[in-house]
Amino acid sequence: MNIKRNVLLNPGPATTTDTVKMAQVVPDICPREKEFAGLMKGLRSDLLKVAHAPEDQYTSVLFCGSGTINIDICVNSLVPEGKKILVVNNGAYNSRAVEVCQMYHIPHIDLRFSVFEQPDLGEIEKALIANPDVAVVYCCHHETGTGVLNPIREIGALAHQYGAIFISDTTSSLGMIPFDIVKDNVDFCMASAQKGLMAMSGLSFIIGKTDIIKASKDYPTRSYYCNLYLQYEYFEKTGEMHFTPPVQTIYATIQALKEYFEVGEDAKFARHRAVYEAIHKGLDELGFETVIDPKIESGLVVSVKYPDDPNWSFEKVHDYCYERGFTIYPGKISTTNTFRLCSLGTIVPKDVEDFFVVLKDALQHYSIQL
Ligand SMILES: *Cc1c(COP(=O)(O)O)cnc(C)c1O
Repeated sequence: MNIKRNVLLNPGPATTTDTVKMAQVVPDICPREKEFAGLMKGLRSDLLKVAHAPEDQYTSVLFCGSGTINIDICVNSLVPEGKKILVVNNGAYNSRAVEVCQMYHIPHIDLRFSVFEQPDLGEIEKALIANPDVAVVYCCHHETGTGVLNPIREIGALAHQYGAIFISDTTSSLGMIPFDIVKDNVDFCMASAQKGLMAMSGLSFIIGKTDIIKASKDYPTRSYYCNLYLQYEYFEKTGEMHFTPPVQTIYATIQALKEYFEVGEDAKFARHRAVYEAIHKGLDELGFETVIDPKIESGLVVSVKYPDDPNWSFEKVHDYCYERGFTIYPGKISTTNTFRLCSLGTIVPKDVEDFFVVLKDALQHYSIQL
């Protein structure tokens, strides 16, 4: 089968291999069959390996939904009665956790920092000292809205020092930046299949400490469909998801994990890094400015300033590139007009070089000066 290859420079879903695409074409199966439960068992244990999570302390729980379902579940399920969650907030994805708190009326602290910088550890410590009722600290690993990589190991250590658990949204870093859930002081992390694992959208998962999930049985229940303990318990009892799983996405994810382990964590990280460097090089050559100091960039997302030319139109340039097989993505910074170029997916530096030829043509075509 010949499938058109698109180079996705958006922050997920990512460009996938044809073998992952084709893995979805399987005989129809009822997901309540033992055969399917067996597939999910293997998948759950492979996900632990991606996070280097020891099986005797951590478990993975699967959900049907986009990545945001994980934020919803972790936030609504893991805050005990009478306790608070501290959200270390330096961008749009951390703000999403704050919005979940607001929606469920969960006591929370929205500790805000500049979106252009890493959060300040001293300020986090001050907030923890001032609020001994904080039971959960929350922070994104990679803030996808800007490209800033957050110092989660240090934030996790602070959380633990003050008796709180640490949840990190690793949706846009897991499987791309080497991550070790124990060394990184993370109690719960999360991701969805279509980003770092380069599978399809529809499957999300949380990896976390089994004893904390068990303890959360007695925490306030704030959702029926999105409760971490209920889904965990159902998996433990039956090996199945409580409700219908995204069957074909699960087949694709199993294939994607096979390819992930074949390539290896370090080689995959090096490839994403090389793509990221090619993005910066191409931007420099054309005269684009970026907004985040590369020293704190994840190497997965680059936020690019709009050129200061009235001829610039993100939509027109996007469409020009899109028609030629390259997808670029709008920014997520409210104070500065930006677009994003990302190094997720099964792409290589040559794809980025090809993209910059097209981008240069687009600039010429619309007489955009830099
Ligand atoms: C992509 C992403 C999510 C999930 O977004 P969905 O649109 O729900 O898939 C959550 N957190 C981060 C950091 C992300 O990059």
